[in-house]
Amino acid sequence: MKRRDFLAGAAAGAAVGAASTISSPAIAQNKRTLKMVTTWPKNFPGLGTGAARAAKRITDMSDGQLTVKLYAAGELVPALECFDAVSSGTADLYHGAEYYWQGKHKAFNFFTAVPFGLTAGEMDAWIHHGGGQELWDDLAADFNVKAFACGNTGVQMGGWFNKEINNVEDMKGLKIRMPGLGGEVLRKLGAAAVTIPGGEIFPSLQSGAIDATEWVGPWNDLAFGFYKVAKFYYYPGFHEPGSTLSCGVNLDVWKSLTPQHQEIIRNATMAENNYMMAEFNTRNGDSLDVLINKHGVQLRKFSDEVMTEIGKASGEVMREVAAEDEKTAKIFKSFTDFRKKAIRWSDMSDSAFWAARKLPFQYE
Ligand code: CA
Repeated sequence: MKRRDFLAGAAAGAAVGAASTISSPAIAQNKRTLKMVTTWPKNFPGLGTGAARAAKRITDMSDGQLTVKLYAAGELVPALECFDAVSSGTADLYHGAEYYWQGKHKAFNFFTAVPFGLTAGEMDAWIHHGGGQELWDDLAADFNVKAFACGNTGVQMGGWFNKEINNVEDMKGLKIRMPGLGGEVLRKLGAAAVTIPGGEIFPSLQSGAIDATEWVGPWNDLAFGFYKVAKFYYYPGFHEPGSTLSCGVNLDVWKSLTPQHQEIIRNATMAENNYMMAEFNTRNGDSLDVLINKHGVQLRKFSDEVMTEIGKASGEVMREVAAEDEKTAKIFKSFTDFRKKAIRWSDMSDSAFWAARKLPFQYE
């Protein structure tokens, strides 16, 4: 750009700026309040507070030009109706988990977590660099939504049980809360898996409406107090190896935003995605100590035999889902191609290093 063009541009910018500062109605016209509905109880640790932080990030980064008003589950719409609310325009944004919308399309599961799928870091890699975001955009656009990764819980726990699971036969007839494709895997093994929102799990477990539940991990499970009504805490969670939370925007609203405001939402959600993962990694360890040492929770690890049987059923479910329609088949192909490479690389990176770090040498 020639210097005089730059100066002319700067002068024009200054003129616009000056006009804006003296014309407050013009500024008011540009200001928008966006409603964000969430699938989480108000201020629920990590999930609800993460959604609140994402809302605040957008508001602060836009200097209030976009003010995001947050609604907890049930305040504007019930938890599992957030997607419909944003799709139809009743709300502008949601914070939740895409697998809650699997009734709309099974392929949404891939953008939260699928059984024996990808870890948190691998999900980010697939979404941002492996073609995941483009596939997600294509799927969500069918429902008038544009969604972003906005938080991650990391590997989840296997769940709370009142009896020991020594073989997969023990899953038969079990009424368990497990959303997404994990629930379908357990149904294949004879369990009666149901999806109920977080806030309804404790009373359901207490009343015997369900026998067992998964939720997230030590931090979130401690907050709901499941240790009061279930004896055994199993790990690891085959069903959610790196659950990605999401922020969806009504597509008409998204298209109406300026490039700057779009970039603010893109960056605010990305910041929260990383920040939340760090918080889960910190709090889960501390909360596990409280569960074991203060509440006497009995930890159990699923045996390799049980995990192998669940793995076989998971593969069957995944292949069945992929065969449902062309769009899901395309996402499945991208996801599984990526998964193969991720397994090879993690064998030599995270997995190999974690094993080496546990070798018997003095460190501190
Ligand atoms: Ca879960």
